[in-house]
Formats: sequence, C-alpha cells, structure tokens
Amino acid sequence: MSESAHDPIEITTRSTWLSVSRRSFLAASSILLVGCATSTETAELPDADFPSGRYDDVPAPRRITRNVPPPPKSGPTVAPEPAFLPGGVIPRSKWAKSGPDMKDINPMLPVKSITIHHEGWEPFMAVDVGETASRIEQVRVAHRNAKGGGYADIGYHFIIDREGRIWEGRNLKYQGAHVKNHNEGNVGIMCLGNFEEQTPTPKQLAGLNKQVRAMMAKYNVPKSRVYTHQEWRGASTLCPGRTLQAYVERARPKSFA
Ligand SMILES: [Zn+2]
Repeated sequence: MSESAHDPIEITTRSTWLSVSRRSFLAASSILLVGCATSTETAELPDADFPSGRYDDVPAPRRITRNVPPPPKSGPTVAPEPAFLPGGVIPRSKWAKSGPDMKDINPMLPVKSITIHHEGWEPFMAVDVGETASRIEQVRVAHRNAKGGGYADIGYHFIIDREGRIWEGRNLKYQGAHVKNHNEGNVGIMCLGNFEEQTPTPKQLAGLNKQVRAMMAKYNVPKSRVYTHQEWRGASTLCPGRTLQAYVERARPKSFA
C-alpha cells in the first residue's frame, strides 16, 4: 500500500474519534450520574463497612443480609481414608495423580503366580516418602505413555521402596501389565531401583519378603510359582537385575521365610 493511501483513513479515523469521544463523554456523564445515584443510596445505609470504591465486590448492604443464616461450615460427610491398607500397604491415593483408564483395563483372574521385578531406570537411592511417591508416579506416567498406546495404569500391583515400605500400585482387582503374554492371574511386585547397577537394601528385601509371603498366603500360590520377570518363558529382559535375581534364588527355596 502506498503512503498516500493512508491519509484518508487517518482523517476518517480522527473525525470518527471526535464523534466517538463526544458520544463517550455523554455516556460517561450518564455513568457518572448513575454512579452518583448509587453512592447517594449507599450513603443512606447505616454502618456501611466495606471499603469505598469496591461496591461491585459486596453482594448486598448489611441491613438486608443481617438475618440471612450463615452457610454450613462443612460439606457432606466423607469417611476419612485409612492411612494404610491391610498389611501396612500405602494406598495408591497417596501417590497417584490419576486413576486407571477404565476403558482399557481387565478384571483380575484367579491368582496363580507372583512375579518380581525391578524398576530398571537409573539407580534410585532415595528413602524419603515424597521422593518415593513422585518416582512411582513417574513410573505410572511412563506406563500410561508406553509404546503401542500405553497401559491402562501402572503395570505392577505393588511397589517396594528403599525403606521397605509397600505401596499399592494397580488395584488387585485388575489384571496387571508386567510380563508380556503372562499377565493373567499374575501379581506383579516391583522393587524401586536398578539391580543390575545397585543392591537392594536389607529393608527393601524385608518388605519384598513380607509382600511375597502375604500374596502366597492370600492366594495359595506355591513357591514354585513365584517367578522373577526373566524366568518367564519367552521373556527377554535383565529384570529384576543380577543382585535381586541372586537374592530371589536364595530366598525362594525357603519360601521367602
Ligand atoms: Zn520386569
């Protein structure tokens, strides 16, 4: 566009501005009148205790609201959530930022086996509850975003941390996603850490033992059906890492006692 082409627009704009500003002045005057009328009315109310200039924030003058009963102090009663599930298991609600994808989750079939895993990421040394909760949430997110459309939820039913705490993962009423082609009736227990590169703590092994024994007893699973991930036929994985694998091979003959 040439420079000359701008001139008429500027002139038009200026004259429009003049007429607009004249209209605005008239409008503003009437707003002022309305505003004055409002302040006059307010001034007649007794004890107006709101700051001036904030009328729009105040729902009604005191004189009118004085006899309105106060709103109830609390909402509907909700049963408090237990701090721990049976067996001292920390509920999923303490760490998970989202529930499972209900469109894509299967019910658990009768439990026949238990499988032990490690997390397998870079070594994890933290014992703090908050850091542990965040790490488990990261695992859940990674599983939800896994290749091929992701899993419906974190793949494991339980997670054992470095302090030996036992965390609920996927609820046991749902089939897990932790051993390819062998998830039916298979409880997945994962120990946080990478046991190709680090060693489980004694507390972590005690927590693992406790949970394996609890699941063996609950579902009548014999020690011959307690596996590590790499022991499943067709599995091609280092999971649960050499140090945890060695431990399971020592503990299993004694039924993790
Ligand atoms: Zn595994």
